[in-house]
Amino acid sequence: MRITLHVIEEKVNRCHLCPLYKTAHKGVAGEGPKDARMFFVGQAPGRMEDRAGRPFVGRAGTFLTEQLKAIGINRKDVFITSVVKHFPPGNRLPTKDEVNACLPYLLEQIAQVNPKVVVLMGNLAQSIKSQPVLRGRTTIETPHPAAAMRFPKLRKAFNAKIATLKHII
Ligand code: URA
Repeated sequence: MRITLHVIEEKVNRCHLCPLYKTAHKGVAGEGPKDARMFFVGQAPGRMEDRAGRPFVGRAGTFLTEQLKAIGINRKDVFITSVVKHFPPGNRLPTKDEVNACLPYLLEQIAQVNPKVVVLMGNLAQSIKSQPVLRGRTTIETPHPAAAMRFPKLRKAFNAKIATLKHII
């Protein structure tokens, strides 16, 4: 039997597989419908997410939510998470060991939700693109929303990729 999303969340919240739990306030497993057709992957929780225990609730999250709304997608209808589930101190890039320790949670979440489309936002999320669980699914690679928000060229690229979702759903 596969473990449920709820069990994954509980495991994330109690996870000691890497040292990030020591400095983080809350685990951020991710959120969304258990049968979402679209699944969004970011890098790691930021400060706001660490306090809230929810993904993409800071500025990058507001940006992502607005861009989805602009093409008629309600954030509540998609699954949103990140590769790494605890806040890396100072918002640094997660290490390879941290990513490797955390990755099974993400892969299991994708298997459980079984989405049609997986949106890989930023370089770290894109590093999972050859994982077997993505076979047979549409993957879309976008810049990370935090970067898209700040740099007009990346914003344009982000919006263009997000717009393709309209035709897939
Ligand atoms: N950036 C991410 O990659 N994930 C979050 O949850 C928030 C910001």
